[in-house]
This record gives sequence, structure tokens and C-alpha cells, in this order.
Amino acid sequence: ERVLAIETSCDDTSVAIVDRSGWVHSVVAASQDLEHELYGGIVPEIAARNHSIALIPLIEEAFKKAGMSWSDIHGIAVTNRPGLIGALIVGLVTAKSLSQAKKIPFLGVNHLEGHLLAPFLKDSQYSPPEDFGYPYVGLAISGGHTSLYQIKGLGDYKVLGATRDDAAGECFDKFAKMAGLGFPGGVRVDQLAKTGNPEAFEFPRSMIHDDTFDMSFSGLKASGQRMLEQLGPELVQEQLPDLCASFQEAIVDVLIAKLDRAAKVYRAKRVILTGGVSANSRLRARAEKWAAEKGLTLVVPPIRYCTDNAAMIGYAGVLRMAQGETSAMDLGPSPQALTTDFK
Ligand code: ATP
Ligand code: FE
Repeated sequence: ERVLAIETSCDDTSVAIVDRSGWVHSVVAASQDLEHELYGGIVPEIAARNHSIALIPLIEEAFKKAGMSWSDIHGIAVTNRPGLIGALIVGLVTAKSLSQAKKIPFLGVNHLEGHLLAPFLKDSQYSPPEDFGYPYVGLAISGGHTSLYQIKGLGDYKVLGATRDDAAGECFDKFAKMAGLGFPGGVRVDQLAKTGNPEAFEFPRSMIHDDTFDMSFSGLKASGQRMLEQLGPELVQEQLPDLCASFQEAIVDVLIAKLDRAAKVYRAKRVILTGGVSANSRLRARAEKWAAEKGLTLVVPPIRYCTDNAAMIGYAGVLRMAQGETSAMDLGPSPQALTTDFK
């Protein structure tokens, strides 16, 4: 089986062709970062409009890159939850229309399931380690989510804990924006932090020692804002590397502490990081060191599969369609974030 996958839940339009083994025949995307940067954040109406402009050409490009045509495709997978409603609708309506026109089934996919299955994707440059498989503990960290899961199999995702307020990515982006680094600024903080001292400034690590798997980043966000205001623009500019390194370290400390707790309590042998923030170089390095010390298999998919992409949606979709699952034409979008277990 092979599916065409569509992802339009946020501000990236992405299309992929994926088969049941996780092999990615093609994955293409159009980023809208430049347009949203003007406004310092994602504008839902602009996201939806850009998806509707970009989507059909991207589908054509995905076919071309894969050297395939509709006759090679057995189904369509599309993100229908969670996300921005207007953005989701564009992908969903397109998937439904193509499903009817091409007389093949379609399936609505949970975006978070996509992130959690991303480590299984394969292409000519990436494949997961031999000993990777179920069960595993997964930390999904992005602009909208920061959640810890235990994954026992396809459709078996137990939420161990989640942020009680802001996502880690949101925290990175707000700090970056306040420091004048643009939007989305997570990656700029990462770059600047490389030459900074992570102990130069003191930032809070909320809930790091409590006995839940929950997290909180709103205190850190506020503390970052206070620090930048106190210093003023000139000093901030001067001390950007130290500020970024210290702020980043606070986030990474909390994430690693919670991951460590989850791995211990659930006796995990395999752990994954996924979502846009797992592109963070300091987090990756610290997680690798931690996993090596604990003798765990850590999988962090390549950055192209960590950030929002249609390949992961296609993989979740193709596995479920292989079990006979399809969606009905009245399937709607849903904004709801998944803070409870899902199947
Ligand atoms: P979701 O709907 O899953 O919340 P999303 O829209 O947040 O998805 P992702 O691509 O999964 O999209 O994640 C984007 C986030 O990742 C942004 O907050 C961005 O700043 C952050 N990010 C990307 N690269 C880095 C990096 N190197 N360091 C820190 N944060 C990063
Ligand atoms: Fe995402």
C-alpha cells in the first residue's frame, strides 16, 4: 500500500508519498515563515489562504519527485486534528475532493500520532536503528505541544504528562521575539546559544523536581521577559549569546529531567524526541549523552521529520488504512489538542 499525504494543520503546507514500510518516496513543503514573520506570529487567515494556493502545485511536485502517478496511490491521508481550523479545512476539503475524483479512500490523521511515528520513516539517508520498535517513551515538543507519551503500538498512546501552560516551542519563540530575533526564533536562539555561557543568567526550572510528568514554561517565559526588560536593548544585544544559552539551558534541563523520570518509571529501553523543538542542537546533544549513560536507545528523527511534515502523516495513515480504516465524507476538522490518551 501507498498513500498520498497532506499536512496543513499550521503554517507549513506539506505533501508526501509514503508506503507501508515507512519508505518516503517524496516529501515536499512550502514554508510561510516569511509572511507570518511580518506579524510576529501565525495569522490563521493568511495560513489558510496560502495553503489553498500552495497545495495543488505541491501535490503535482510530490508525484513528479516520486516518479509516480495516481495509479500508484491507494489512499489519501490528511491531518484533520489538531490545528488551526481554517488551515485544516483546506487540506481536508482537498483530500475529500481527490478521494471522490480518483475513487480511492481517505483517512483523517491525528497530527500528534504523526509526530510520534516519525522515527519509523525511512529514506536514502535515514532509517531507524535495528533495535527500534514498540514500546517506547516519546517526548513530543513543538510550538503547540509539549507532552510525554508511552507508545505501546499503533493506536496505543498513553499521555504521561504535558505542559500545563505554554509549549516549549512557544517559549523559545516568545523569548526570541522579545530579544528582537524575529519569528519563529527557536532556531536563532539555538544558533546564538552555541557561543554563549549557559550559566551566565539564572532562569527558573519550574516543576523540575515534582513527582509528575507535567511541565510548566509560562514562569520561564515571564522571567525571560523581565530579564530582557531589565537589561534594556543595548545590553541585550551585547549579551545575546549568554542570554540565549542560559534560557535554552533552562528548557533543556526540564525536558531531560522529565524524560529521565518517565524512562525510569516506565522502565523504557527506547526513547524518542519528536516535534520542531527536537531540532534544537543542545537538546539533541544532552539527550544523546543522557541516553548513552543510561544505556537506552534514543531516536531523534532527522530535522526534516521532526518539524511538521506530511511524511509522518502518510505513515500513520497508511498503517491505519492497511487495517481497513477509512473516513467518511462528513469528517470534520478539530482544534483540540491531545492532552488525554488517544487511539
Ligand atoms: P504542532 O501543531 O505539533 O504544535 P508546530 O506548528 O509547532 O506543530 P513544528 O514544526 O512541530 O510545528 O515545531 C515548530 C517549533 O519548533 C517552533 O516553536 C520553532 O521555534 C521550534 N524550533 C525549530 N527549530 C528549533 C531549534 N533549533 N531550537 C529550538 N526550537 C526550535
Ligand atoms: Fe507539529
